Amino acid sequence: MINTQKINRQSMYETVMNQFNSTADIIDLNPNIRKILGITNNEIIVHFPVKMDNGKVEVFTGYRVQHNNALGPYKGGLRYHDTVDIDAAKALAMWMTWKTSLAGLPYGGAKGGIKIDPRNYSDSELERITRRFTYALGENIGPEHDIPAPDVNTNAQTMAWIADTYMSTISSSERSHNQHVVTGKPIGAGGLEGRDRATGFGVYLSIKLLLETRNEDFKNKKFIVQGFGNVGYWASHFISKDGGTLIAVQDAHASLFNENGIDTEALAQHCEPRKGSIKGFKGATEIDPEDFWGLDCDIVIPAALGNQITQDNAFKIKAAIVAEGANGPTNSEGEKILLEKGITIIPDIFCNSGGVIGSYFEWLQNRNGELWQLEEVMEKIEKKITQNFHKINSEVKKRNVDWRTAAYILAILRIETAYNQRGIFP
Ligand code: GLU
Repeated sequence: MINTQKINRQSMYETVMNQFNSTADIIDLNPNIRKILGITNNEIIVHFPVKMDNGKVEVFTGYRVQHNNALGPYKGGLRYHDTVDIDAAKALAMWMTWKTSLAGLPYGGAKGGIKIDPRNYSDSELERITRRFTYALGENIGPEHDIPAPDVNTNAQTMAWIADTYMSTISSSERSHNQHVVTGKPIGAGGLEGRDRATGFGVYLSIKLLLETRNEDFKNKKFIVQGFGNVGYWASHFISKDGGTLIAVQDAHASLFNENGIDTEALAQHCEPRKGSIKGFKGATEIDPEDFWGLDCDIVIPAALGNQITQDNAFKIKAAIVAEGANGPTNSEGEKILLEKGITIIPDIFCNSGGVIGSYFEWLQNRNGELWQLEEVMEKIEKKITQNFHKINSEVKKRNVDWRTAAYILAILRIETAYNQRGIFP
């Protein structure tokens, strides 16, 4: 069962700080830059009232944490989930800084969201919540300042409401050309062809590239996925198309197993009217959630929340590869166990970077007044991820370190260079 508890011994914030500090030690990071990157620039908390369908007013709490903008505007998603709080937003914002830096994008890192379970609200309530949150954030977001995107439980519709509210409430001279205040919009409202599948495609590609270094491919490979939202579905879709067999899926409501393979498209259709839950799907049998991680397979893809692979279950994992579709799914103790077992972890900041790379292309498309075709977008994403893969692979070999360490080294060195060249104001 997906663990939605905030503290699973170690918080996501502790995980990201451990990762940062151990890399800073390895590269002997300039102590001044270490101080700057060890803290988040801005932490915005807003409380805002919204009228519910029954006429009563509820007050919500929203967050936006801007970690660092040395390389460009703050960038990162907004999630609607019960686990959203300031610590989670801080951790996720830091991960965005490393992710955009590693990906070679001109962005910094941010993250935010609202502490709600969206299943408890009607669509019109969610629209009002989203619009009022956007209004409360005001000038704290902006197309050249901080650019939100979808994350857990938010989607293209959420982004369309944000863009519309932002454009309707800023000064009139700027209204028409500010749709790139958010990315991940619907195609008709300035969105990018392919942005919907970009993250899952990146997850697929990162595994494919790793397999290629071992002279392997997806044929006869069994994989399991935790989370069947946007990332879990699209990753499964691309891997299955390339010959892999999805044998198990887990979400907050059920764990499903079928050793002959689960039909990804049928499962997606099953989820659609049920607000995402896989429970009740006929093409697989329900198993005990405790048995999920220990299933016999080659690839494990956590694509749900943070802090899922921990000291409580890492020892069960039999796969050779853990590909982190989610942000922060493996805590420090879990990671230690996986590495000791010789399992390769494709780290989140690379594995799921297809999403923010797609976002960057959407932002460019909007800024330049262009409309890009799907094939063009997918080619560009593939090119960028492939280049980044080879960079990390060289670092892994050069320094004889694991993939996360190599990725962190590259991400942090790029930011360090920017600070060294620019200096600190005043
Ligand atoms: N929420 C996604 C992530 O965690 C996408 C962020 C973006 O596109 O800005 O990477």
